[in-house]
Amino acid sequence: MDFSSYRQRLIELEARLSSHIRQDLDSGREQVIDTAADAGDTSVADESESEDYTNAELDATILQQVQAALRRIESGTYGRCLVDDEPIDPKRLDAVPWAPYCIKHQALLEAASRPKPTL
Ligand SMILES: [Zn+2]
Repeated sequence: MDFSSYRQRLIELEARLSSHIRQDLDSGREQVIDTAADAGDTSVADESESEDYTNAELDATILQQVQAALRRIESGTYGRCLVDDEPIDPKRLDAVPWAPYCIKHQALLEAASRPKPTL
C-alpha cells in the first residue's frame, strides 16, 4: 500500500507543530522577562505563562505521535495497530494520520485512561 500522501501530510504537520511549539515557548519566555522587569501582579502572568506551556505540551505530544508515525512509514509498519497488527481503517488514517491504534484498541485505551467512576 502506498502511504506517500500520508507521509506528506505528516511531514507538513511535523513542521507546523515544531514552529507552533517554538512560538508557544517563546511567548511563555517573554512573559517571564516581562514579569521580572515589572514586579506587578505576577499571578496573572504566571497563569497565561503556564497556559502557553500547556499548549506547547499538547503540541509536543501530537508531534511525538506524528514523528512515531513517520518512523513507522520508514519501517513499513505504518497503518497497522500497535497492539494486534490489524490494518487501521483508511478513513481513520485520513482523519488522524498519526493514529497508532485501530478504533477498537484506541477505545479500550481511552476507557482505561478515564478515571474510574466512584461508587
Ligand atoms: Zn488493534
